[in-house]
Amino acid sequence: MLERCLDGEELGVNDAVTLLSAFASDLDALGAVANHLRSEQAGDVASYVINRNINFTNVCIKSCKFCAFSRVHRSEEGYFLPKVEILRRVSEAVDYGATEVCLQAGLAPSMDSGFYLRLIEGIRDLHPELHIHALSPEELKHGAQLTGQSIREFLVDLKSAGLGTIPGTSAEILDDAVRARLSGGRITTQEWIDVVSAAHELGIRSSATIMFGHLEAPSHVAAHLASLRTLQRRTGGFTEFVPLSFVSSEAPLYLKQLVPGVRAGPSTDELLAVYAVSRLMLGREFVNLQASWVKLGLPMATRLLQWGANDLGGTLMNESISTAAGADHGQFLRPTQLRSAIAAAGRTPIQRDTVYRELRRFSSDELGPSDRLDGVTSASHFGSLEALTRGKQFRYELGREPQLRR
Ligand code: SF4
Repeated sequence: MLERCLDGEELGVNDAVTLLSAFASDLDALGAVANHLRSEQAGDVASYVINRNINFTNVCIKSCKFCAFSRVHRSEEGYFLPKVEILRRVSEAVDYGATEVCLQAGLAPSMDSGFYLRLIEGIRDLHPELHIHALSPEELKHGAQLTGQSIREFLVDLKSAGLGTIPGTSAEILDDAVRARLSGGRITTQEWIDVVSAAHELGIRSSATIMFGHLEAPSHVAAHLASLRTLQRRTGGFTEFVPLSFVSSEAPLYLKQLVPGVRAGPSTDELLAVYAVSRLMLGREFVNLQASWVKLGLPMATRLLQWGANDLGGTLMNESISTAAGADHGQFLRPTQLRSAIAAAGRTPIQRDTVYRELRRFSSDELGPSDRLDGVTSASHFGSLEALTRGKQFRYELGREPQLRR
């Protein structure tokens, strides 16, 4: 199978299932082939982006079993950032050199129908040069329902308001039986494909993700990769593929054992195999394969650069969702940390933008501090999720939402 991949043959679903279970010397051989293909397809560079996450509310009408971030509206830990605070965070990110802001959040009850549009417009008016990467397919479905528009109409309005790209999250495993066990009421497989396809057709590109290490079998992972490959061949709209390992320690699904047989996240062998098989199966359609330091920590993310990955993601500044789920890898990384990790893996560091255009290439004597963000040493400099959930400043109160008005 590996030799056929090296000869340029496409990896089929059945072969992918076999390779996903590789171990010992077979796993090493799989990794070597993935690393070779990565070098051919993406070169001997690795990239990162300076960006900021703004998860503007944790209040959500859904209760996905794997989600440790969301709170019901009655919770003492529910927050909703007012628009003025969101814009302050955006401006701060720009001051620190961010080229992208990423907005994703819970689906708070009584959000008014124009909220998403005004939010995007407000950011675009303040910082027209900033790339706005925002709203998962689940949020887009919710937003379209609020406005009474079709997904396509809603996306057209968002694009003219300044939306740049969308995160391909809320995919988890694109299999409705697995989705029903993970999170009843979640956007369906077909709806996810329809939202992403509509975005791509309108020129709004997206990332693609998978969440693994919970209830799925290798056959689900292989089928998920095949679905993404088919979709990418049709639209060409994906910018990257980001495998997300399930972070279990605070996730209700695992903590309360809500579904029998749920695992505590992938084993190291599984993780390596998922990355390597992703490179083999998708590398021609998705040149960019991102290792998520948020989920795995920087040392493991760096190791994955030898297993097919060519990107370490972003600085984030305010990572909340994995932190809530129990990941303890911090809420931001400085560019110099990302550059040093890339160099340690034997690659040339590149600062990129959201759609993988090269912004700056660093030689080995330029790895040290060079951005304002490199001067930030305190973990709480940009605030923390704990401060938002424990503090009263941005407390969400149903029926009293002055923050939602223009
Ligand atoms: S994953 Fe998203 S939609 Fe589901 S409960 Fe969490 S915030 Fe809400």
